[in-house]
Amino acid sequence: TTVSLPSGKDYYNVWCIFTKVASNSPMRRKFEIFAESLLKLSSVDIAFHVITDDDSKNVAEKLLGNILSSTGKFMKVQYYDVHELALQLADIVSVMSPHFSSKPGTYYSDALFFLSLGLHRIAPAEQSVAAMFDADTKFRRDIKELFDEFNTFGSQALFGLSPELTPVYRHVLYLYRNKHPDTLFGEPASSGGYPGYNSGVVLFNLDKLRNSSVYDAIVKKEKVDAMTEKYHFKGHLGDQDFYTLLGMEKPELIHTIDCGWNRQLCTWWRDRGYADVFGNYSKCDSETKLWHGNCNTPIPDD
Ligand code: UDP
Ligand code: MN
Repeated sequence: TTVSLPSGKDYYNVWCIFTKVASNSPMRRKFEIFAESLLKLSSVDIAFHVITDDDSKNVAEKLLGNILSSTGKFMKVQYYDVHELALQLADIVSVMSPHFSSKPGTYYSDALFFLSLGLHRIAPAEQSVAAMFDADTKFRRDIKELFDEFNTFGSQALFGLSPELTPVYRHVLYLYRNKHPDTLFGEPASSGGYPGYNSGVVLFNLDKLRNSSVYDAIVKKEKVDAMTEKYHFKGHLGDQDFYTLLGMEKPELIHTIDCGWNRQLCTWWRDRGYADVFGNYSKCDSETKLWHGNCNTPIPDD
């Protein structure tokens, strides 16, 4: 692979979205757990890029200040205004929202869930690789080990993501699966299938993304409309719906990361008619390196 990992005084670029803390106050504590576990376990220099709004930025500054002093460790922190980024990526958002948004709302609440798809246009040019995390995650291992995944990216891989650990895409692909009874799309990974991707953790080969005419083309309206039609796909999970389709149409563009790096805890689908198969999807035999307390699920203490 041609990716050069950070070395010397280069930073490991970590991105996170932290917005609307006033209306979503549990998010403060989640973000604190995420940032503290990241810093505590890290053996490398981190540049932390926080996408935020004015009120949330104030909260983040205080929380991060406390974490730096309590851990006695340092990381560089930069803030980006979510409204500005939403404007910069309005083209991508307008293509994606009709297909992958549950309740298309304001331009900005929608944009929040699609920013990762244009990170290469937002991230300063000196960033050649980066990782983005949901704030409802908690590290159990050094982030350096996650960045080592870049070394195993295929020659065309633009992104790295872990599998979705629920049957949500079995559900979303219901019609397609009926028409194609032998398809592996929507089947659990534990039986050799393709359950889709979860976007709580995303690795970006930013240099490749910036130079990819293939990627530029596939985020255009005609291509996205055609893909969703082909698979009768109506999603509601934002960027990860797009990554999931991308993994079906152009699997070489996505490197699959070990499930232990995004150990999702949400059990919502188990109690919605999928109790019989849920265990096949949530199964992840590797060591948990990062917890993801999705759908507001508490994260274990250890
Ligand atoms: N987020 C945010 N403010 C919000 C909602 C979401 O900053 O009001 C960010 C945050 O980083 C969060 C991510 O968007 O982790 C995705 O949302 P969430 O984790 O709640 O979705 P889930 O993983 O449960 O599907
Ligand atoms: Mn999450």
